[in-house]
Amino acid sequence: MAVTFAKRTEILKRSEIREILKITQRPEVISFAGGLPAPELFPVEEMKHIAVKVLKDSGSQALQYSTTEGFEPLRQKIAARMNAKFKTIVQPNNVLITSGSQQALDFSGKLFINTGDVVLCESPTYLAAISAFSAYEPNFIEVPTDDNGMIIEELERILQTVDNVKLIYIIPDFQNPTGRTWSLERRQQFIKLINKYEIPVVEDNPYGELRFEGSPLPSIKSFDTKGLVIFVSTFSKTFCPGLRIGWIAADSSFIEKFVLIKQGADLHTSSISQREISAYMEVYDFEEHIKRIISVYKKRRDAMINAMQEHFIGDIQFNRPQGGLFTWVEMPQRIKAVELLKRCLQHDVAFVPGDSFFPNRQVENTFRLNYSNMPEERIYEGIKRLAMVLKDY
Ligand code: PMP
Repeated sequence: MAVTFAKRTEILKRSEIREILKITQRPEVISFAGGLPAPELFPVEEMKHIAVKVLKDSGSQALQYSTTEGFEPLRQKIAARMNAKFKTIVQPNNVLITSGSQQALDFSGKLFINTGDVVLCESPTYLAAISAFSAYEPNFIEVPTDDNGMIIEELERILQTVDNVKLIYIIPDFQNPTGRTWSLERRQQFIKLINKYEIPVVEDNPYGELRFEGSPLPSIKSFDTKGLVIFVSTFSKTFCPGLRIGWIAADSSFIEKFVLIKQGADLHTSSISQREISAYMEVYDFEEHIKRIISVYKKRRDAMINAMQEHFIGDIQFNRPQGGLFTWVEMPQRIKAVELLKRCLQHDVAFVPGDSFFPNRQVENTFRLNYSNMPEERIYEGIKRLAMVLKDY
């Protein structure tokens, strides 16, 4: 076949781990691998009512093309909620509705990255952000992190020595994959540095509203005095991912560019999905819905942490996230997570080896666990099996 694909597609490799994880779809497998919300918390009955209401009240608009920027009442609600929850000062016209926040990541790559430009990210970082940016052929530089977030001295050292940094990608709240949250001090130090070097930042925040304990911290965007922070979020984890509604909140000079990119990509986000979410928020209590999610996930987080404390032996470290969907496990160097996964699958239990979350480095002794997607008994059973396999290893 004489067809030749664009060079960028060579980078988009099939992952060996994804292939291995295909078997986790068998119902007997206890899978801590995905990042799926709990489906029993989706408001199915309420959405039946909302679907009918939207079609009755505004059927022809809901089924028609609409503006690229998004459904105005939804942009207003997003701006108001963001300002209340994340301490930002954004106006509805700073908000662009996207088809999931994944699209916002792709657009950020498209807006800033030329081949060979440098993207800085936390080490480790969200796997599908690496995939989204990779299509624009950057060089990633991983910034070391600890329990309080990105290590600012390391970031500064990189900014001093590397001159083509185009974008910094961060997930400061309940990070995917580690579940860690940046401390207030790190947030303040970070923005000081960003203002000095004037580099655009994508602050990706799908999990910030799912806090089980402790006080919410102001977003990085809330400290943004120079309009450099592009805040990205989604209804996927606080509502339903199937609707594919996310958003970008940024300075209007960025939004204008993003709108042009979106016109070329998909014209606009689903009119009917946008109207459904907006109507849901008018008819039902969205904050109550989020509280229900938090109370269920908190129990699941506790089940997972308790089971690990009870069953893991030896030098196995894991963190206790204060919110979100994930925890992160670090094992002694000699234990390889991919090998551990192969052995675990023989006992019908799965997780994601940490390797894929590091764009450059080979880090083989870590893995990510998700706790949102199954009841406590299954979590206990799965961790017990995992611990048994670990012990034999
Ligand atoms: N960013 C992060 C950090 C995520 O974990 C996810 C989903 N797992 C996304 C973005 C994309 O979410 P969506 O496209 O469903 O909004």
